[in-house]
Parts: sequence; C-alpha cells; structure tokens
Amino acid sequence: MRLVLLGPPGAGKGTQAELIKEHFSIPHISTGDMLREARKNQTELGRKAEKYMEAGQLVPDSVVIGIVKERLSAPDCNKGFLLDGFPRTVKQAVALEESGVVLDGVINIQVPRQLLIERLSGRRICRQCGKAWHVEFNPPPEGICDCGGELYQRSDDSSETVSQRLDVYLEQTSPLVQWYEEKGLLQAIDGNQSIDEVFAAILAALEARR
Ligand SMILES: [Zn+2]
Repeated sequence: MRLVLLGPPGAGKGTQAELIKEHFSIPHISTGDMLREARKNQTELGRKAEKYMEAGQLVPDSVVIGIVKERLSAPDCNKGFLLDGFPRTVKQAVALEESGVVLDGVINIQVPRQLLIERLSGRRICRQCGKAWHVEFNPPPEGICDCGGELYQRSDDSSETVSQRLDVYLEQTSPLVQWYEEKGLLQAIDGNQSIDEVFAAILAALEARR
C-alpha cells in the first residue's frame, strides 16, 4: 500500500496517519522526520540538507526528493509506505513519479475552513506539562490543566495566524490536489466526522480502488 496523505492543519492528519500505519503495517514517513533522520545519520544528502537548515533556508526540492527516494528504498518500505508532508508541490509529485514510485492512492482529508479555524484557534497548551486542551472539544476542568498548570494559546493558533496558515496551505496544495485528481489517484475524505468514522471512510475508499 503506497500512499500519500494530504490535509490542512487541523484536519486530524496525524491521528489518521497513526491508524493507517498500524492497519497496513507500513512506515509513516513525514518530510520533517526524514530530514532529521538523514541529518542524524549524516548521509550525503543529510549533510546537504543540514547546510540549508542551519542557514535557516528551505531545503531545495532536489535535496528533499533525494532524501525521500533514499528513505523509500529502505527494507521497511517493502510492503508500502505512507508519505506525509511530501510531495507538497506538483513539481515534487512529478519528480516522485519520474523516480519510478507508483502510488496506490492519495488521501485528501477535507474539513470546512470555519471548522478548521475553530479546531485550531480553540487549542490551549499547559505551561507546565505541555498537554493540549481544547476550549470546546476537550475543555480543561476548572480552566486549568489537570496537573494544575496554567494554560495558554500558542501564537501560531490565534485565529488570524490560523487563517493565514490555511491560505498558505491551500495556495500551495490546490494544484497538487488537482494534479492527483487528474491522475485518478485522489480519494477525498470528509474529515468532519469522528476519528473512527474518518478512518473507516479512508479504508472504504482504498478498498474500492482495488
Ligand atoms: Zn499540565
């Protein structure tokens, strides 16, 4: 099962990635993890990526693609993989295809914008233990963490910043979503359901492809 997982911040991608990984016994490969790994192992590409990261620059496509290819050739990818955070652009998707990787499906978790803003801007983090709460969906008892710590909102989670993050995400990924749709690989999943329901929808969509 060779999959790509797409979805905006707040769509519950991380939770679904864990479930997919368990279900198919495939590695969950996120670009962030890959870059950290390549850097830690000091592979040639890892050292290249390190130069950009240390200079505070974006790691260029050619380097990211090299690291992805390297990672996908590891033995644990024999049964497949779940790519998360890559590809991010059509250019990267083309490069992935040209490197001979054949995908079985691209899962796109969709959630209405207003709901994403509610989900993300309602997050509160404990200053003491780092636990995440949500003012509406997982409200802290007595307004403080169960460890007694004070809660705060990350600056990333203010509704204005959340709105900007969503704009950037959509601008970047809309062409990619369209590209995969034209390839007949896209599976649109309604993310406005319970965790179990979203996961069931993903499995049903993949099953239907076989
Ligand atoms: Zn706490």
